[in-house]
Amino acid sequence: MTAQTAQPKPSPFEEVNRHLDEASKIAGIPEEAMTLLKNPYREIRVQIPLYQDGRLHHYTGYRVQHNAARGPYKGGVRYHPQVDLEEVRALASLMTWKTALVNIPFGGAKGGVTIDPYSLSTEELYDLTNTFFTRISMIIGPNRDVPAPDMGTNAQVMGWAMAAYGRKEGHTPAVVTGKPLELGGSVGREDATGKGVVIISEEWAQSEGRTLKGARVVVQGFGNVGSFAAKHFYDKQAKVIAVGDVKGSIKNDKGLDIPHLFKHVQATGSVADFKESDPLGNDELLFQECDYLVPAALGSVITGENAGKVKTQVVVEAANHPVTPEGEDILTMNNIEILPDIIANAGGVTVSYFEWAQNIQQFAWKAERVERELIDILKESFAQVREYRCDCKCTMRQAALALALSRVYKASKARGYIRV
Ligand code: NAD
Repeated sequence: MTAQTAQPKPSPFEEVNRHLDEASKIAGIPEEAMTLLKNPYREIRVQIPLYQDGRLHHYTGYRVQHNAARGPYKGGVRYHPQVDLEEVRALASLMTWKTALVNIPFGGAKGGVTIDPYSLSTEELYDLTNTFFTRISMIIGPNRDVPAPDMGTNAQVMGWAMAAYGRKEGHTPAVVTGKPLELGGSVGREDATGKGVVIISEEWAQSEGRTLKGARVVVQGFGNVGSFAAKHFYDKQAKVIAVGDVKGSIKNDKGLDIPHLFKHVQATGSVADFKESDPLGNDELLFQECDYLVPAALGSVITGENAGKVKTQVVVEAANHPVTPEGEDILTMNNIEILPDIIANAGGVTVSYFEWAQNIQQFAWKAERVERELIDILKESFAQVREYRCDCKCTMRQAALALALSRVYKASKARGYIRV
């Protein structure tokens, strides 16, 4: 008997490419064009020296520029201990399809530093950010590549990033989005991704003749995206029955009081030990019976191994790539709808586009305009995906990716990059 060797697990980038291959067949994209469309244009890896407690440490940072056929590269920067090149590639690729799907004039990129930002002092975080952005400054810029916040980064980090770039190039607010308001950030950017998650969930509900009122919602992650998604679900009178973050999970079948929970998180740094709730194991959170399950933390959390335990009607992908292809096969077999990341969490990049446009024009929009234009773009994009899906009899993800692929393919042809 020969010993069985375990197949290596596909990387997130390989998984994204598997979805793209499926979508390319639906969209009728020639196979030879797909090599160009799937792979990144440029990848940069930089060394980040950092003094901590008087000792020199070394960290690694990445910027992957995936595709700019439709406009400057665009995508967040993640600070997380699990960041690696394959993950950044996957996230950069998803940005290409997301910006194309919501039809904003950007391509796709992503950056990351392999570090736990919560282990750093404010000064160390500043030094790390300053070094990273100085070292990638030659490939970013308002017409080249426009970074934004992602996991482990925030408006303050973007303010420091803008300053690092400005030391070389002069004051350039449009080089990053998600900045503090004082530096040219847009009103409505902070909660835009979470708000978009709820706009898309509501569009789906309406398309099924339902409403969000009274719907049971479970949210994994209570950072920027998860907390504001929970807030907007709560505002729509949905019942957020369970939430979790890296330190713990909580549950209340009657619905958590989200405004109170915000105060608790502000005071303690976690949802754990919230008085008006019962504790829940982090490994149980994703398997609570609910109507909307909203992963809003890490990628690849619903997999071939655990998808069978998911008890929801819809998975709303607030996080990027939270469901692996094997996980998706099982969810689909169990008639669970998936609202894919490239539409479900596109609210953030959409308002980032508004911020960039405001910075370039040196003209600030009012909150009402940001909200109106965000809703318009997301509703239209959802309607297009739904129509495509009905025509092609495919999944929401296949429809979203096929639509996005067609747009990037046409732009690449128009530029002369692709001649088939
Ligand atoms: P964040 O750093 O603000 O928050 C992350 C949250 O996830 C925190 O509450 C953290 O405690 C929790 N978390 C981390 N590891 C966990 C674990 N193992 N189990 C449970 N919870 C865990 O990050 P964010 O900006 O809210 O991003 C969350 C996700 O949304 C990421 O996948 C990101 O790529 C995606 N996303 C973010 C934006 C944006 O505008 N920030 C836009 C689109 C997509």
